[in-house]
Amino acid sequence: MSELIEKLKTAHQLTDDELLRFLSEEQPEEALFAAADEVRRMHYGDKVYLRGLIEFTNYCKNNCYYCGIRAGNPHAERYRLTEEQILACCKEGYALGYRTFVLQGGEDPYYTDDRICGIVSAIAAAFPDCRITLSIGEKSRESYQKYYDAGARRYLLRHETADPAHYRKLHPESMSLENRKRCLFDLKAIGYQVGSGFMIGSPYQTHTCLLSDIRFLQALRPAMIGVGPYITHTETPFAEMPSGDLHFSLKIISLLRLLFPDALIPATTAFGSMHPQGRELALKAGGNVMMPNLSPVRVRKLYDLYENKICTGEEAAQCRNCLEQRIRAAGYRIVTDVGDSLVPFGQAES
Ligand code: SAM
Repeated sequence: MSELIEKLKTAHQLTDDELLRFLSEEQPEEALFAAADEVRRMHYGDKVYLRGLIEFTNYCKNNCYYCGIRAGNPHAERYRLTEEQILACCKEGYALGYRTFVLQGGEDPYYTDDRICGIVSAIAAAFPDCRITLSIGEKSRESYQKYYDAGARRYLLRHETADPAHYRKLHPESMSLENRKRCLFDLKAIGYQVGSGFMIGSPYQTHTCLLSDIRFLQALRPAMIGVGPYITHTETPFAEMPSGDLHFSLKIISLLRLLFPDALIPATTAFGSMHPQGRELALKAGGNVMMPNLSPVRVRKLYDLYENKICTGEEAAQCRNCLEQRIRAAGYRIVTDVGDSLVPFGQAES
């Protein structure tokens, strides 16, 4: 085992120089994955937590240069789910053993705070033993507080990149890294279990950007760290840019597990979209969460963030059965559990 992996495994920390060396040097993959898996098992055993993902709108007012559902893509066929449709997804998911529902969408002004709170409180009333996660972008602290009061307890908002110059290359002037960070710290202060993260191999990303990402995550201490390879979408300004690399992305998963032993780290859909076994590989590299799609099959292809997104044709139940087998074959076990993070978070959990 290399001396850097050894240090990561015991100290869960590297200096800036060591981190840059870790990123640029070839690492013995087997030893790295084994170290990450050992640390993951020490904290979370062989458990894999499931989150049922409901992609309820692909309207978005933003124009992130990498994203297929950006406002400026005239070819995106837009859809919205009604509260009844969202509740039907939760009902189906509950029967399949999901105890967390993640409502994700573009930043869609149609869903006012009142509408979001109505949806959240209806889910909370119907499924009192479940956690509700929102992933609906940048809002005011007041809005985040209203969603929390309505029953939301988790929020996913990737910071995307913590390097200000890199952030500017990925986003238009109307968006700012300062606001993104403000949102994340507001969410934490309110008491949410916060998930943040970034794409791996996004255009113009350097190892120094990744170093900033890691230092930012160490300052934020999120409950969940969501990362996945950047995958090019042809209807974006980055159509000519290459996608991220699978092996480098797996190396980052292991690095994150070793730096953040108690964090939840999903084996994201982007891994599965890059390689038929991508999500299993991400689990073996240190991941411990999966977020299968519970959205109605009719709309799945339309939530088109990047090319060749997986699981767009399967019913939720097929998806669940297929996952069960895949996870078992990879050496892990799905649990029917809300699956809270071991990372301490804000106010007392209800
Ligand atoms: N609007 C919310 C937000 O901004 O957090 C949630 C939806 S947004 C589409 C969810 C995530 O998709 C983003 O945080 C981004 O990292 C990821 N994403 C977007 N385009 C991508 C691409 N081309 N490849 C990989 N991930 C992408």
